[in-house]
Amino acid sequence: MVSRVIPVEDFDLVIFGATGDLAHRKILPGLFRRFEAGQIPETSQIIGAARTEQDDDAFRKEAEASIIEFGGVKKSNPNLAKFLQLLGYVPIDAKGDGGWEALKSRIRDDKVHAFYFSVAPALFGDIAERLANYGIADEDSRIVVEKPFGRDLATAKALNATLAQHFAEHQIYRIDHYLGKETVQNLMAVRFANVLFEPLWNAQYVDHVQITVAETVGVAGRGSYYDKSGAIRDMVQNHMMQLLCLIAMEPPYHFDPNAVRDEKLKVIRALEPVENGDIVRGQYQGDGKNGGYLEDAEDPDSRTESYVAMKVRISNWRWQGTPFYLRTGKKLRARTSEIAIIFKEPPHSIFDDTGHPKANELVIRLQPNEGMNLKVMIKEPGPGGMRLVQVPLDMSFADALGAEGADMPDAYERLIMDVIRGNQTLFMRGDEVEAAWAWTDPIITAWEDSKRRPEPYDAGSSGPEEALRLMHRDNRRWREIRS
Ligand code: NAP
Repeated sequence: MVSRVIPVEDFDLVIFGATGDLAHRKILPGLFRRFEAGQIPETSQIIGAARTEQDDDAFRKEAEASIIEFGGVKKSNPNLAKFLQLLGYVPIDAKGDGGWEALKSRIRDDKVHAFYFSVAPALFGDIAERLANYGIADEDSRIVVEKPFGRDLATAKALNATLAQHFAEHQIYRIDHYLGKETVQNLMAVRFANVLFEPLWNAQYVDHVQITVAETVGVAGRGSYYDKSGAIRDMVQNHMMQLLCLIAMEPPYHFDPNAVRDEKLKVIRALEPVENGDIVRGQYQGDGKNGGYLEDAEDPDSRTESYVAMKVRISNWRWQGTPFYLRTGKKLRARTSEIAIIFKEPPHSIFDDTGHPKANELVIRLQPNEGMNLKVMIKEPGPGGMRLVQVPLDMSFADALGAEGADMPDAYERLIMDVIRGNQTLFMRGDEVEAAWAWTDPIITAWEDSKRRPEPYDAGSSGPEEALRLMHRDNRRWREIRS
């Protein structure tokens, strides 16, 4: 199977924060990969901007080193030298007035213009204002903003209002890199391009849904930053909410940015408030060799959660009575992200002496080893009568799609190309982000107002015992966390 690479129009992309971590680890290597794949025309321009004083050549050298280190590219790769010729650099302080005219002189009139704000959100307003005031951005320009998009509803609204002063909604691309993952998009293909699943995709046939995002890393090294956020702000409000929306939404009338985002918004609005008994927060403990969360967070009294599990209800016709269980945490047993749709058991078994058939499960793996797995019941082979066994119909995208599957673009690559193409389907709309905060805020406030402490859990475990009980009391079990 040969995937088609359709080149984008040539463009001028300005990366604010081009000397930072995100630009070096993700954006520049991602752009190189798209260039190498033939998707970026050689007449495009990528201009770095940050306060660091340096010229084009110095930035190219810096970018070359990152592409080699983070993109796994060989220095001798002939495409690397060609790609570096697309790069330029302008020293700019987002809060000052130097450099903007120089930037303006480099932007060409007849190209697609995109401005990537890979800087702290506190600088979004300064950059947006200067892009407009210096006449660098026009009504066709696009801006790309990174998470975190606010830390609550009030700050998200303020950020939206700041951007709206200079840019219309159709120009704003709010990145949630989970939406750029191949499997996440495949979720929509599976649901809406097959007749098989959609008739069963409701409370009548789905017992419950589990969404797991487990990490093995802790927060050491960025503990003081993480401690102001916690798992709910860092993972649930954005990434997990997006996954939940794509599973739960109604079919959009068309695969069109606003049609898809309208349906996601309806799901968020239908989320019931989470009751106190339906949420468990945890903090990982030290294991003698490594410190626990409190040491990593550099605050011995911190009540910030490094783990959260919750039962979420969607109050609409399709999902009435089908809970969605979400869990995410640091320092867990394995690094894995998956969505599991657990169907109901068959209402009646005709195989009396061999036990009741088990429920079907559809597991969509986001990482590692992106793919899908459908568990079905079959007869155990052999002459021993009718014994049933559950087997996986397993599809790893890398295996099923061969070299093309193994070489899938990283989420950032795909999303940046969508910006250039002007396709907002995989980006969050302002009202979506605000609705997500409106649901999350009371959960966070209730916790801040309580005197409770997170449940401790061992590093390398599956999370706190309390989280197991959250499921057990409903006669359900979490799937094992394993990579
Ligand atoms: P970072 O490593 O701290 O980089 C910040 C960048 O901003 C640097 O290039 C810095 O360059 C520039 N900068 C700071 N003050 C500036 C100013 N006044 N004017 C112009 N440029 C200025 O941060 P990062 O990790 O790359 O993150 C960038 C954004 O992406 C943040 O909003 C972050 O939350 C978000 N994000 C990052 C990641 C990640 O993996 N790193 C993941 C998701 C989201 P100079 O010092 O040279 O000015």
